[in-house]
Amino acid sequence: MEFGTKLIHGGISQDQTTGAVSVPIYQTSTFAQSTLGGSPAYEYSRTGNPTRLAVEKLIAELENGAAGYAFASGSAAIHTVFSLFSAGDHIVVGNDVYGGTFRLLNTVLKRQGLNFTAVDTRDLTTVASAITPKTKAIYLETPTNPLMHISDISALAKLAQQQNLLTIVDNTFASPYVQRPLDLGADIVLHSASKYLGGHSDLIAGLVVTKTEELGEKIGYLQNAIGGILAPQDSWLLQRGMKTLAVRMAAHQKNAQQIFEFLQQDSRISKIYYPGDPNGTDYQLAKRQMDGFGGMISFELTTDLSVKKFIESLKLITLAESLGSVESLIEVPAIMTHGSIPEKIRLANGISNRLIRLSVGIEQVTDLLGDLRTALNAAQNFY
Ligand SMILES: *Cc1c(COP(=O)(O)O)cnc(C)c1O
Repeated sequence: MEFGTKLIHGGISQDQTTGAVSVPIYQTSTFAQSTLGGSPAYEYSRTGNPTRLAVEKLIAELENGAAGYAFASGSAAIHTVFSLFSAGDHIVVGNDVYGGTFRLLNTVLKRQGLNFTAVDTRDLTTVASAITPKTKAIYLETPTNPLMHISDISALAKLAQQQNLLTIVDNTFASPYVQRPLDLGADIVLHSASKYLGGHSDLIAGLVVTKTEELGEKIGYLQNAIGGILAPQDSWLLQRGMKTLAVRMAAHQKNAQQIFEFLQQDSRISKIYYPGDPNGTDYQLAKRQMDGFGGMISFELTTDLSVKKFIESLKLITLAESLGSVESLIEVPAIMTHGSIPEKIRLANGISNRLIRLSVGIEQVTDLLGDLRTALNAAQNFY
């Protein structure tokens, strides 16, 4: 089955008992058991729920993995994956990971005895030299948020295998339409499904897929033990959103490409970060590793333009955190999504106070270009 067909017919796409073409919302906490001491398919909804199972089977198929699990948020998914490790274990992590991940690792998991070394995962030598006898995994995002750095998943997974480490990829920015890390050798792929997978800014959810059944059983055990599960109504809404992932991603990518070309020819834009920039350092790798370049663009205005005035002059493009939705969203990472990262570390990683991140929506692109043009003019005339 092709990817776009899997989205509609993959996993459990119909109700077995009634034939309902939309999986019903099994809004129940428990399930009647027919015999004492039997092993029923469902017993309690934290452990398993048919609506959640449908979306879990679907994401496992989309990522070409053995098992999928759905969580109440991307953060809950990440926390559950890191619960594979024990006090004293060391993990090499990307130095440009999602701000909330940075916070979870540094203010929660460190206290519980895990150790981390943050490195630029684009540099294999640096990654290799960060590995210690206590290292258990390499954890990365590609493309990164918000600088769109691309790391070579195959090369990192090969290095990890040689040292008996797990490779864990946060695939939120690409979505499985654009990139499938398990095919490239990763062991675990995870998502904030609040972004492209849900796709409509109406849901918080997280997904995890493992390459092997064995790893899947471990994540399943932790999902039930920790309990950060996705509820039936949200599981249904997530699957409903995922059905259109292919058509949405094609539109996101087409619009992003045109906005990139528009920004590139405007002298008031001093920097652009976009995986599809042919002059970008990671372009060849992005072309090889991804099916398209995604819908995210970050950029900086020249210093004679007011960032505040630019953002506040936009009428269509909405100032908001989050990304991957049908409507275009814009934000300033330094004071929004990445505000929890200490300034010194943030600046050292290249996230300046003037950096703007745009999640390109699927509106008619001419309207988006018009909005950007008007706001640029307003920001220029401001001083
Ligand atoms: C949003 C996001 C997360 C966290 O997911 P939530 O659903 O908000 O908890 C993790 N990683 C990346 C890359 C994200 O963009």
